[in-house]
Amino acid sequence: MFYCHCPHCHVCLAIPREMDESPVQCRACRATIPPTSDERKPTSHANHLWLVIVGVALLLVVVGLTGLGYGIWHSYQNPWQISTSKEGEYVVEFPGRPEVTTRPHTHALGSTTIHLQGTTTDDRTQSYTVGYVDLPEEWLKKSSKNEVLNDALIWVTKGHGNVNEKSRKDIWHGKWPGRELATVVGDDGGGLIARAFLVERRIYVVYVSWLYSKDVPDKASRFMDSFQVLRFSVLQK
Ligand SMILES: [Zn+2]
Repeated sequence: MFYCHCPHCHVCLAIPREMDESPVQCRACRATIPPTSDERKPTSHANHLWLVIVGVALLLVVVGLTGLGYGIWHSYQNPWQISTSKEGEYVVEFPGRPEVTTRPHTHALGSTTIHLQGTTTDDRTQSYTVGYVDLPEEWLKKSSKNEVLNDALIWVTKGHGNVNEKSRKDIWHGKWPGRELATVVGDDGGGLIARAFLVERRIYVVYVSWLYSKDVPDKASRFMDSFQVLRFSVLQK
């Protein structure tokens, strides 16, 4: 099995090795990902180690050269960007330039649209994403809050194959109910942290997915904790 991030919704996908030369469909957002997609070539663990070694060597050289040089390098390596979505009514800080996309979202109760904003690291081993769906009134009548939150977390983990759950707990975002899930992805030490929140008719998912590391990425908690729901519609009243 081989793991990569979907270029559209950034969830982690497990792809059987025999599919290496074939297009695959993302099990979460249903986008077709051709075999030539850059996303299907995440840096392997060995290469990643080399990148780290080269990166550290570069850092030492730059620090040795001048403090100013270090400052430039540092700001380049840590391009945190605050992003405010007026339609999505949230603010979040991404560790890179986020891209916005929408995907059809199908569910047993019908279909709607998922709005996504996310970024993947240059080596494609880490992804940071916010998604939201406005749930049709009928769906909410037919599902409990509990089901809606669990459905959102199932969506994020759809591509994993066998989901190896580490923890699942109830959380709150202000007065709005939420749920946090942590899973292990694959045998190479990848993982996922996802939070889902139900804010009136809108469900948000905020997730970090990574490959080839047993450690949660350094940037994960800053990203996850920076997410804030803004209710412009409420403020305007
Ligand atoms: Zn996808």
